[in-house]
Amino acid sequence: MALRDTPANRDELLQQLESARSHDVPWKSGRAFGYVFETGDDAQALGKTAYASFLTENGLDPTAFPSYPRLENDVIGWVLDQTRCPAEGVGIFTSGGTESILLAVKAAREAARAARPDLARFELVLPITAHAAFFKAAHYFDLDVVTTAVDPESFRADPGAIEAAITERTAMVVVSAPSFAHGVVDPVAEVAAVCRARGVWLHTDGCVGGWLLPYFRALGAKVPDYDFSVEGVQSMSVDLHKFAFCAKGASVVLFRAPALRRHAAFACGSWTGYSLVNFGVQSSKSEGPVASAWATLQAFGHQGYRAQVEGMHRAAERVRAAVRAHPDLRVLGEPCMSLFAIASDTVNVFHLQDELRLRGWHTRSQLRRGPSPENVHVLLTPVNDRWVDAFINDLGEAVEAARALPPSELAAQLREMFANLDPADVSDDVIAGMMSSAGVSQGALPGRTAEVNQMMNALPTAIIERALVHYVDGTFRPARG
Ligand SMILES: *Cc1c(COP(=O)(O)O)cnc(C)c1O
Repeated sequence: MALRDTPANRDELLQQLESARSHDVPWKSGRAFGYVFETGDDAQALGKTAYASFLTENGLDPTAFPSYPRLENDVIGWVLDQTRCPAEGVGIFTSGGTESILLAVKAAREAARAARPDLARFELVLPITAHAAFFKAAHYFDLDVVTTAVDPESFRADPGAIEAAITERTAMVVVSAPSFAHGVVDPVAEVAAVCRARGVWLHTDGCVGGWLLPYFRALGAKVPDYDFSVEGVQSMSVDLHKFAFCAKGASVVLFRAPALRRHAAFACGSWTGYSLVNFGVQSSKSEGPVASAWATLQAFGHQGYRAQVEGMHRAAERVRAAVRAHPDLRVLGEPCMSLFAIASDTVNVFHLQDELRLRGWHTRSQLRRGPSPENVHVLLTPVNDRWVDAFINDLGEAVEAARALPPSELAAQLREMFANLDPADVSDDVIAGMMSSAGVSQGALPGRTAEVNQMMNALPTAIIERALVHYVDGTFRPARG
């Protein structure tokens, strides 16, 4: 649609915006898992007020807006305390986990370059459970990814495999606390011992768990040490816009000492404009997210978070107990928070996901990768608590419905086809044809997604990635005119 010529009526616009989200995941119902981290409290409402009140201030220039470093320094200090960082610790407030991870990787690469100026290329050692954002960082910063195996039962990183993967080119090793896919905490102390001995930078990805894990641990969840209390952990990422219930656009990356953070900085005096210096990817940026996080964290306080975690811990334990008691389902590994993966040896989990959605539950499926079988990912937040019984009941019904559905013929054909085919020989037309056979057209998914997921699950990684780009390319196409 073309931009109108005359200014629009305010109410009409707001109405149109409201209708624009009519097909969005109905997160307010408490039946969607993992996109929106809501508690439904006044604490969060206050955060939204703070967001709007600082929306217009610009975090570009701390000399013009000293409020920005003031609020950021408070927030960073609280997360340094939560992660038991020594007094010299510093951090950077960022727009999200991805930016936090990009900056940590960039810093580690600069540190490696400084330490080994004779080498031209560097590597990132990633257990296959490390978040996709690290693969993105390697892609952006031209690092080579070296993936390492994880234990096939616990899905925790294997310190021996990491040790074997470290070379003189290793810029960083990554562990998760916990991993997004399985919700398990890696053996951070064991990996840290390896990294210390080899002089390699270790990053703990606490994006999803870094804020709440201490409260889960206090309730008895078995959580090994993962934070700066482990000697050798040089940096950590902690998202505030997930399990600290802050508004989106809020994460931090922490460094054990200022000398490490300095490698993340960028300064420019080369152009004709103002002198630019900052630690983040963004330059001009709203002060809304940091003001909102500052308000939300204090509106909860430790007591408020502890109360939220009590409910989440109970709910997650009940759902996992029901999954473990079900003869067709199992929980992968031993998750310690409220996010976990449900697999089945007898029922197709992609049909299971569709059947859950037909009953109003929005979960995500995860493809088979290494020893991790295809599964349905569940992430409980406080708004899901009241629905636990209904979810457990519907999960049982969904299993029965999924059991009756046939496996995908398309997936079987593709599996056979790709067994003897070099992915490099596959044309874009073939990818487009596959997607349309599975029911994807112009960026729109079919009502049932099992066919698409089974197809993806049958494809080599390089083809999956091209199919994903094909999808997103179709989704973001403006209708001009
Ligand atoms: C969410 C997440 C990230 C990436 O964070 P974004 O905020 O989505 O950019 C990285 N690591 C883990 C473990 C996560 O859960």
